Amino acid sequence: MCFLPTAKTILKEQAVADKQCWHIGNFAPISVEQANFFTEKLLYWNEHQNKREMPWKGISDPYKIWLSEIILQQTRVAQGLPYYQKFATAFPDIHALANASQDEVMTLWQGLGYYSRARNLHATAQYISRELGGVFPNTYVQIRQLTGVGDYTAAAIASFAYNLPHAVLDGNVFRVLARYFGIEQATDETATRKHFATLAQQLLPPTKAGKYNQAIMDFGAEVCTPALPDCANCVLQTQCTAFAAQKVNELPIKSKKIKIKHRYFVFLYLHNEAQFFIEKRTEADIWQNLYQLPLIEVKNAKMFENINPLLQQNWGVETTNLQLSKVFVQQLTHQKIHAVFAEAFMKKELNTLTIPATWLLIFKKNYINFAFPKLINLFLSNIALTST
Ligand code: SF4
Repeated sequence: MCFLPTAKTILKEQAVADKQCWHIGNFAPISVEQANFFTEKLLYWNEHQNKREMPWKGISDPYKIWLSEIILQQTRVAQGLPYYQKFATAFPDIHALANASQDEVMTLWQGLGYYSRARNLHATAQYISRELGGVFPNTYVQIRQLTGVGDYTAAAIASFAYNLPHAVLDGNVFRVLARYFGIEQATDETATRKHFATLAQQLLPPTKAGKYNQAIMDFGAEVCTPALPDCANCVLQTQCTAFAAQKVNELPIKSKKIKIKHRYFVFLYLHNEAQFFIEKRTEADIWQNLYQLPLIEVKNAKMFENINPLLQQNWGVETTNLQLSKVFVQQLTHQKIHAVFAEAFMKKELNTLTIPATWLLIFKKNYINFAFPKLINLFLSNIALTST
């Protein structure tokens, strides 16, 4: 039996053990027996039943592990896998990635989203290649200091490459722990996340850190999934609190909803038979360092109905033959982008236009050499860019 914690027994961010229980923050007492069962069964499942094959599994090359972890941040494995293979082939080691141009990296990353990851990946490769002589850091603290590496990624790299005892904590782990231990505190609150981190660390067998971390991540992705978890065949079922209480679908709990900001973009597709204008996004905003068609951002969708004056005022575009596309939509994590494309054919006399110095005139046949956001690629792939 676990005794209930009192103020004295709760130490901040630290698991306190009596003989039978851990008392962690404001969680209900966690039975040591239930915790041991969890770790043992998870390792057993990983050894005998885990069928998840991935090219970076079982390797200890920190460069490849880091590459895979950055690609998989906020990305499903099925989507990230071809990108990992492209990057590992094009850049087999850290020096090759460091010596690539930013455009090469961004073009290879195109379509994967969260483009700051690609910029950080490239900058970090240059740092390791040039400042550290290509030797990847080998302590958790040093790995955590790399640009683009957070707690989760540092723990994954440290444990997979060096078997260092640092527990991973991501959406999969929150879900498995919340359900198995019946934790009803919201996982998106800072204080609770710290308690989860303490519990995850407490559960980690120090000499099997890499295997355990792989096991819990794969288990969350394969068995204890967000929708339709496979409770009937689950090795943890007999001790699972949520299963016993029929609360599997209620856990984990989140308190906040993500606020979505709507943005309205008018892109100008200004072209002649062979060429069109693009520009690079250099501002600290979404899609930084990707290319786009010249853009005017407007306040709302109503303004899509009267964009001719804007195009004339901004760039002197002749609007008599302007064609307006349907509205394209791209959902990002915190933003929803609504975009229309205004297509205008360039007359020979370009001097009637106001062309900013940042615009580039490129050949249509070369557009695949530039990394564009998904929405623009969709538009460009829908029109014939076959002229030479
Ligand atoms: S029994 Fe169901 S809810 Fe519990 S750990 Fe297994 S899959 Fe997850």
